[in-house]
Amino acid sequence: MTTVAPTTATFDSLDPATGEVVGTHPIHDADHVNAVVERARIEASWWESLGFKGRKERLVRWQKYVVQHLDELVELVQRENGKPAGDAALEITLAIDHLHWAAGHAEKVLKRRSVAPGLIMANQAASVAYRPLGVVAVIGPWNYPVFTPMGSIAYALAAGNAVVFKPSEHTPGIGEWLARSFLEAIGRPVLQVVTGFGETGGALCAAGVGKVAFTGSPGTARRVMAACAETLTPVLMEAGGKDAMIVDEDADLDAAAEAAIWGAAANAGQTCAGVERVYVHERVYDDFLRQLTDQAKGLAAEPGGQLGPITMPSQIDIIRRHIDDAIARGGRAVVGGPESVGERYVQPTVLVDVPDDSTAITEETFGPTVTVTKVRDMDEAVAKANSTTYALGSTVFGKARAQEIAERLRAGMTSINAVIAFAGVPSLPFGGIGESGFGRIHGPDGLKEFTYAHAITRQRFKPALAMTTFGRTEKDEQRAGKLVNALYGRGNKKKKA
Ligand code: NAD
Repeated sequence: MTTVAPTTATFDSLDPATGEVVGTHPIHDADHVNAVVERARIEASWWESLGFKGRKERLVRWQKYVVQHLDELVELVQRENGKPAGDAALEITLAIDHLHWAAGHAEKVLKRRSVAPGLIMANQAASVAYRPLGVVAVIGPWNYPVFTPMGSIAYALAAGNAVVFKPSEHTPGIGEWLARSFLEAIGRPVLQVVTGFGETGGALCAAGVGKVAFTGSPGTARRVMAACAETLTPVLMEAGGKDAMIVDEDADLDAAAEAAIWGAAANAGQTCAGVERVYVHERVYDDFLRQLTDQAKGLAAEPGGQLGPITMPSQIDIIRRHIDDAIARGGRAVVGGPESVGERYVQPTVLVDVPDDSTAITEETFGPTVTVTKVRDMDEAVAKANSTTYALGSTVFGKARAQEIAERLRAGMTSINAVIAFAGVPSLPFGGIGESGFGRIHGPDGLKEFTYAHAITRQRFKPALAMTTFGRTEKDEQRAGKLVNALYGRGNKKKKA
């Protein structure tokens, strides 16, 4: 079984470390995108007809295929995205774990289940099932080119949908690899790929799919939403972040510093839920900063280093602007600084004394930089952490009050005494609010995101009070009034008395 034939215009994906061409890919136009979506509708019917067990068996087959070809995919991620092999392997491993969870839990979460009909409707048997939307379009970014789109792809497939995936123009080969591996493992193109730039993504939004799952920047999220509004196509939005870490006075400072620098600089800082701001209790600020500084100085962004290059060249200017803005407004770089920003690589940079209105605090930097701010208490830490238009992930290091602080954070996810742990737990939902988007991938919420609820009632016996009939009498209405009063009115009367 083959996929739809590609169009002729092409573009190259480049190795961000060297600028060398990694692969050449078609720029798919609207006609091609529509043809792919048409084909996906056929695949969606077949895929749905397999039922939960048939789909699970096939998704596990695909999962095994990916594990068996892990090295191939690691190498491709390394070349197209630039991250070190260990980071690529970690990202793929987590994606495989999610695929396994989604395949294994879809039936339990989505299958038809009985619900209590309530006293007034006690003559009805009531049930609800979560059914696939048909074709789901997934539009992905380049920073976690496997893990991030798989958060939508795996869950949408497990929920019974066919998927058309438009990978970032920076990582199209990885998207093609995923679709090809699915075809080789399963034999039918239930997962297809279209490649190209924003126009290709726009065509996918206009193609009449059941839902668009978008991951990318808030600006593009707005354009995607506007395009989808034309056809009332529902959207899931996973946009950027400006995540904060809070360090309380009783925190393990060594562990907190290690987590802060990893959260800030891993993947060269190009992580939507990476640590970009740290708020530290004044009693431990100096000790924490010393440990963070020591650890950050031991890292290097270079070929073969712990940090890879900046994948998207245009991001270099944004990182430079944020560092310059922080320093121009009175901030200081205690590690790195403006000179850390090279042509392809950015060295880790730790900024202190940065005012709250600096872009280094207010906007997503997406580089290996972090601001560290002293706070007098945890109320101030929570207020500062929450004072952003973004709200994706967050981290708390502490002991006695850590849980309480976590519960006060305005964020989709929080890790206590670890960093980004929430992303690796398949049973937990992942997503944000505000500028960080809406809707959830992962966990039961992530499965339901790619379905619609179908409610059914079945009358088991005639109701004692037949209200939905023109044969209803005045006496019936009086009895209904008495029933409502007996069920729900008495408490109020008592309270008044
Ligand atoms: P981007 O917004 O530039 O692009 C994302 C995708 O949208 C790409 O595939 C692109 O081709 C496509 N696109 C561009 N214009 C389009 C249009 N008009 N219609 C449809 N599609 C269009 O984002 P990026 O630079 O690839 O990714 C980085 C961003 O993604 C960061 O802001 C990061 O925080 C965010 N991100 C968020 C999450 C999350 O789960 N919340 C995960 C990873 C990345």
